[in-house]
Amino acid sequence: MVKSKLPNTGTSIFTVMSAMANEHGAINLAQGFPDFSPSTRLMRLVEEAMVAGHNQYAPMPGVKQLRERLADKIKSLYGAWYDPDSEITITAGATQGLYTAFAALVQPGDEIIVIEPAYDSYIPGIILNGGKPVKVKLRAPKFTVDWDEIESKINNKTSGFIFNTPHNPTGAVWRPADLLKLQELAERHDLWVVSDEVYEHLVFDSQVHESVAKYPELKNRSIACFSFGKVFHSTGWKMGYCVAPPHLTKEFRKVHQFLVFSVNTPIQYALAEFLEDPEEYLMLNDFFQKKRDVMLEALASSRFSISPAEGTYFQLLQYDNISDVGDFEFCERLTKDYGVAAIPISAFYEDGQDDHFIRLCFAKSTSMIEEAADILRTL
Ligand code: PMP
Ligand code: GLN
Repeated sequence: MVKSKLPNTGTSIFTVMSAMANEHGAINLAQGFPDFSPSTRLMRLVEEAMVAGHNQYAPMPGVKQLRERLADKIKSLYGAWYDPDSEITITAGATQGLYTAFAALVQPGDEIIVIEPAYDSYIPGIILNGGKPVKVKLRAPKFTVDWDEIESKINNKTSGFIFNTPHNPTGAVWRPADLLKLQELAERHDLWVVSDEVYEHLVFDSQVHESVAKYPELKNRSIACFSFGKVFHSTGWKMGYCVAPPHLTKEFRKVHQFLVFSVNTPIQYALAEFLEDPEEYLMLNDFFQKKRDVMLEALASSRFSISPAEGTYFQLLQYDNISDVGDFEFCERLTKDYGVAAIPISAFYEDGQDDHFIRLCFAKSTSMIEEAADILRTL
């Protein structure tokens, strides 16, 4: 018999809710993916790269032109330089980047600080590599960080910190003061940081994305993970990248080369060319803010309690005025009886904490958002 390495892990909530949405023909605002296509130009560039013969293995760290474009992009956005040769690696989405980072950094017995609610791949990634996740919860309903509590959980076994801004699932965006505090703690306790920044371009109102790249000491201790899926509406391509100083990239690539060796070649050539126009990503803040606002307006007269998302393409709704059932049951009924699928936030807590929040994805056409909102307003 095989002894499970993840005895407490079931099927990802995204898979469960998308399957339920499909089975019941519900509007799927659960799993986070756009219902629109990537730019036609980008798709043509992929085709051109294939026809031009870029169909064999890419170099292990990624196509050089793409790494060069990314170095320029990060420099212009965050004022920090990452050397394309020794500090940037192209990955099969952020999921592979994150897992590779855990496999490279976590030593058996290490304690790693994870903020909850947490994206579902972090804790299994730590456990599979022999680490112990030490959880610190954001404080509902505003989902603020309690730095004193974080500090109280750090001891001589603590080796790392998982950081995610803009934050999935809450939509919270961390402030400069948070990064300064993280930088101070990381320095004082000699911690590495895995920074999940896949929603870097989805930040609303007057907020600004705070990358670890902007904070020199933090930059020097961090592997930052990004995803082209979120940036170019192409989650199914599973393309991303990780940036880290040479000493961390060296360890990262030792694992990367045996996990995937290299990733999709023609898409890398296409992305390198597409990235030459920064407008393609700089417009995303406005583009998604409009979608968030369509959702907020359409739900304004509903009975849900709503605090506008500051970033990501997710909006949380609290349903205490509507029902007192658990959030999974609420989402199940919503999908089966009303035809709208959402994600229950308890799935992002290992102990299943349930504050009656559900998450809706607004990376959808206006008509789909409004159709779903018409239903949600009847509750
Ligand atoms: N981190 C977060 C916070 C996410 O929401 C997602 C989902 N896109 C990922 C990582 C994984 O990204 P990818 O699809 O590029 O693997
Ligand atoms: N990141 C997406 C979300 O939060 C889903 C990714 C996945 O399905 N694994 O909904």
